Amino acid sequence: MPWGKSVVTKLVKINVSPIAGHNGFTAGASPRASEVYVQYDPTLNAKLTFHEIMHMKLRMGNEMHCLNNCCKPGNSPCGLAAADITNEGLTDDNIKRMVTALRTPVKQWTGGIPILAQVRDAMRRGDTMSGLWQ
Ligand SMILES: [Zn+2]
Repeated sequence: MPWGKSVVTKLVKINVSPIAGHNGFTAGASPRASEVYVQYDPTLNAKLTFHEIMHMKLRMGNEMHCLNNCCKPGNSPCGLAAADITNEGLTDDNIKRMVTALRTPVKQWTGGIPILAQVRDAMRRGDTMSGLWQ
């Protein structure tokens, strides 16, 4: 998702204002939806995607960023659960939580797919102001 654009807000109908270093958004109870705001670093994009999948599959909001007080000095690092994953990596705790969570289905919102297809078609026509997304 380009910076400043959102399709998930079509599901939850709120304004997104990402916190510093947190370039993704996951929302909705059931269905849920995630998006990542694309960076120029492919490794960072992969980490952001994993982070949003963690929000999705663990069914957690921002409380995920400080699981077991991982965000407090002296505690085990949050790894890819951190609010800013720029300099973080996968931890044993991240793996342990996701091994369990990946087996639990989470209903996905598919309403963004036709919206993004319309945006793509509008952009191909040169209409960048289509208003189809935020
Ligand atoms: Zn997050």
